[in-house]
Order: sequence, then C-alpha cells, then structure tokens
Amino acid sequence: MLDCIIVGSGPAGISAALTLKANGKNFMIFGSPDLSEKISKAELIRNYPGLSNVTGEGFSAALKAQLAEAKIEIKNEKVAGVYALKEKFSVLTQENNAYESKTVILACGVESIKPIDGEEAFLGRGVSYCATCDGFLYKGKTIAVVCTTKRLEHEIVYLADLAEKVYLVALYKDVAPMPKNVTLLKKIPKQIAGERRVERLVFAAPPAENIPADLPVDGVFALRECIAPTVLVGGLEAENGHVKTDKNTATNLKGCFAAGDCTGRPYQYAKAVGEGNIAAHSVVEFLK
Ligand SMILES: Cc1cc2nc3c(=O)[nH]c(=O)nc-3n(C[C@H](O)[C@H](O)[C@H](O)COP(=O)(O)OP(=O)(O)OC[C@H]3O[C@@H](n4cnc5c(N)ncnc54)[C@H](O)[C@@H]3O)c2cc1C
Repeated sequence: MLDCIIVGSGPAGISAALTLKANGKNFMIFGSPDLSEKISKAELIRNYPGLSNVTGEGFSAALKAQLAEAKIEIKNEKVAGVYALKEKFSVLTQENNAYESKTVILACGVESIKPIDGEEAFLGRGVSYCATCDGFLYKGKTIAVVCTTKRLEHEIVYLADLAEKVYLVALYKDVAPMPKNVTLLKKIPKQIAGERRVERLVFAAPPAENIPADLPVDGVFALRECIAPTVLVGGLEAENGHVKTDKNTATNLKGCFAAGDCTGRPYQYAKAVGEGNIAAHSVVEFLK
C-alpha cells in the first residue's frame, strides 16, 4: 500500500511531493503532466522569493525540471473519489483505476468559476462531474456539457459517442472540431432545473438560434479542472467554501491533509508551496 496519495499537480502538490521524496516515502501524485494552468497562464510572477520576474511558463519549466531531477512522475489520471476506510484510503480515478494509501494530501486547487445554481442539489440525480464514470447512463439521451477547459475535450468526445445529442457550453477559447451530434453554445447557463431529476438547463435568454432558453436535457456534465474537495471526499468538513484544516494542514478526517488554494485565501504560490511542505511533514509524522 502507498504511504500517501497527493491529489493535484500545482505548487502545493509538487511541494508536498518533493518533501515526501526527500523523506523516502512511497507515494503517487495525480494531476497533469502540464502541472497547473494557474502556473503556465501567469504572465509575470513578481512575488515568488528567489525568482524575480519569471513568466508562468518559466516557473512551470523550472518545476518540471525539478520533478524530473527528483525522479517524480505525475500520474496523469483525474481523481474521481477519495474514500476514507478503516486506517486507509481508497482512491478512484476517472480512468477507472483504484489505488490505496495510508494518507491523502488534497492539493486540488479551487475552481474560479462558481457552480451553476442547482448543480449541487442535483448531483447524482442528473448532474455528474465524470464522463467515464457516468457517461453510460446517458446512452441515446440528450445531455448538456458545461466545460471550462480545453484539456477535458476528450471527455466531451467520449460523451458524444454515447449520447444522442450533446449541447456543449464551452467556457474556453479555441474549441476543437466536435462530432456532428454536438451543438456549441457560448452562453453561461443560469440554472439546472427539474423536479426529482435534472430536466432542463436554463439560460437568461435563448443561447442560440432555435435553442430555447429553457433547454430540455436528461443530464448535465460539469467538466472542470477542479472538483470541489467536499464532493471528492465524503465527510470532509468545509468552512466558507474551503477545506477546513488546522495549522498542520490536518482535516477532520484522520490521515487526510489539505494544502494550497483549496484551504483558503490568499491564493498565492508561496502559500500553496508552504502548505504543501507542511502537509508532507504532517504525513511523515502521522505515518510514525
Ligand atoms: C492567471 C493567474 C496568474 C496568477 N499569478 C500569480 C502570481 O503572480 N503570484 C502568486 O503568488 N499567485 C498567482 N496566481 C495564483 C496561483 O496560481 C495559485 O495560488 C496557485 O497555483 C495555487 O496552487 P495549488 O497547488 O493550490 O492549486 P493549482 O495551481 O490550482 O493546482 C491544482 C492542480 O490539481 C489538479 N487537480 C484538481 N483536481 C484534481 C483531481 N481530482 N485529480 C487530479 N488532479 C486534480 C488541477 O488540474 C491542477 O493542476 C495566479 C493565478 C492565475 C489564475
């Protein structure tokens, strides 16, 4: 069994990984080989000690080089669920793999786009965050996909293969050519509505010609970089929309730690890196 699983490949997760490595721990870090869009998209970073006026791309390249030097590989899988079992954690990924570890560090960042009204209420009743986990439920049906990042376009194509009709609400630029059954919409939806299950995606005004503002759908997939940690981990305590931690980054779940933007403001690299380091040290102490 692994000593630790780190969820997220931003500054917090990378910092935790480097410290766990230095302490000889057996761990995996899940995320993207491109690390974090919040690093690469920064124009110029002026507030990180020791790196004056570095670009986001430059910072990202430096982190990648450091990971390679330390022989740390990012596992390119998206964590879909973390389950606290007796004295261990089971971690399931959207790629349908399962892993076990003694501890978990949540370093999954925060989503800058607010959830759609009704999204949380209909979770599991027509709202899903995972194409490969729930796509089969919508075979031959009509769905909406609200996607915030180009990086998840492969999931849209996967869903288009199953569903009869897909309305793609793309909240990013340069959408790739999509299969014929995908209709692209560029308006932000206002609400997910229905009685017991999702029935409609509601817009403030018709989102395109011949598309009603009250769009009938069987389900809504919200594809984002970050799934809210409280959705990811059952029983996790939150405070003001962030994971509640103590000064050692411990959450309310024994063996589960959290670091970086997901624990609250300020949203800054230095804070994320510092908390990632503390989380790794807390894991080392916990394992003792
Ligand atoms: C454009 C821009 C410019 C910025 N400039 C600055 C600056 O100049 N100075 C500064 O201090 N801060 C800056 N920030 C803020 C800074 O980027 C964040 O505070 C920092 O990246 C937070 O690090 P993190 O590791 O907590 O989260 P993130 O960087 O958000 O990383 C989280 C990572 O986890 C991955 N992930 C999430 N969920 C899962 C999952 N379920 N499975 C697998 N992987 C997952 C995500 O894909 C992401 O790669 C900027 C942010 C933006 C958007």
